[in-house]
Amino acid sequence: MLSGKTALVTGSTSGIGLGIARALAEQGANIVFNGFGDAQQIEKLYTDIGQEFGVQTAYHNADMSRPEQIEAMMRFAFDKFGGVDILVNNAGIQHVAAIEEFPVEKWDAIIAINLTSAFHTTRLALPGMKQKNWGRIINLASVHGLVGSAQKSAYVAAKHGLVGFTKVTALETAQTGVTCNAICPGWVLTPLVQKQVDDRAARENLSNDEARRALLAEKQPSGEFVTPDELGALAVFFCSPAGSQVRGVAWNMDGGWAAQ
Ligand code: NAD
Repeated sequence: MLSGKTALVTGSTSGIGLGIARALAEQGANIVFNGFGDAQQIEKLYTDIGQEFGVQTAYHNADMSRPEQIEAMMRFAFDKFGGVDILVNNAGIQHVAAIEEFPVEKWDAIIAINLTSAFHTTRLALPGMKQKNWGRIINLASVHGLVGSAQKSAYVAAKHGLVGFTKVTALETAQTGVTCNAICPGWVLTPLVQKQVDDRAARENLSNDEARRALLAEKQPSGEFVTPDELGALAVFFCSPAGSQVRGVAWNMDGGWAAQ
C-alpha cells in the first residue's frame, strides 16, 4: 500500500517508534530511522528491516533537541529519497518529579524533544508534501495529551501542546492531500516505561511483575499494556486511503484510561 513512499520516524531505534517503522516498512514504505543507541546495533536494525520487507532504509542520528541537526536530517531524507511523505514525530523522553523539584534543564529538554522538534520537522516537511498533494503527519502524543498525572508537569504540558499543534497542522492542510493526527497511547511496555516500573519496584519493595501490575491497576482499566504493533497498525490506518478524511484527531489507544 505504501510502496514508493518514504517515512521518517523520529526516535525509531526503540519502543513505539521502532514498532511503527516496522509496520510502515511492512506496507512497502522506505524508512529513515532516527534515535540514539549503539551504532552497530542500529546499523543491524535498519539493515535487517530493509531486507525483511524489501524496502530501502537509512539512518540519521540527529538530536531532536537541536534545530540545526533536525534541519540536517530533513536535508538527508530529501537527498536520499526525494522527500518525506510520512512524518512520524515520535521521539520523546520522560522525567518524573514534583514541580518545585523539577530540574529546569529536564523541563527544557522535554519541551524541546517532545514538542518543539515536531514544529521543526513539520515546517520542513510540509512544502514537499503540499507540492505532491499527499502526506501523512502522525504525532505520538500520549493519553497525557488528554489528561494529567501528578509529577509529570513537563511531559503533560508538552503532550497537550503536541495535540494542539496537531489540530493547527490539520486545519492548515485541510484542503490538501496532507493529513495530520495524533496518537495517544496509555502504558506501553518500552524502556521509557520500564524505568518507571523499576523506580516503583525499588520505592515500594516490589518484584518487577508486581510493579508492572501496580502501574497498570492505577490508570489502565484493561490491566494490559498497549503494544508497539497495535500502535503501528493504527499508524498504517492513518496512511491508508480510508484515513484520508481523518484530520486533527487525538486518537487514544489506552486500554480505557481516558474513559474514566
Ligand atoms: P523509548 O524510550 O523506547 O524510545 C524513545 C526513542 O526516542 C528512542 O529511539 C530514543 O533513542 C529516541 N530519543 C530520545 N531522545 C532523543 C533525542 N533527543 N533525539 C532523537 N531521538 C531521541 O520510548 P517509547 O515509550 O517508545 O516512546 C516513544 C514515544 O511515545 C514518546 O514520544 C513517548 O512520550 C510516547 N508515549 C509512550 C508511552 C509508553 O507508555 N511507552 C505512552 C504514551 C506515549
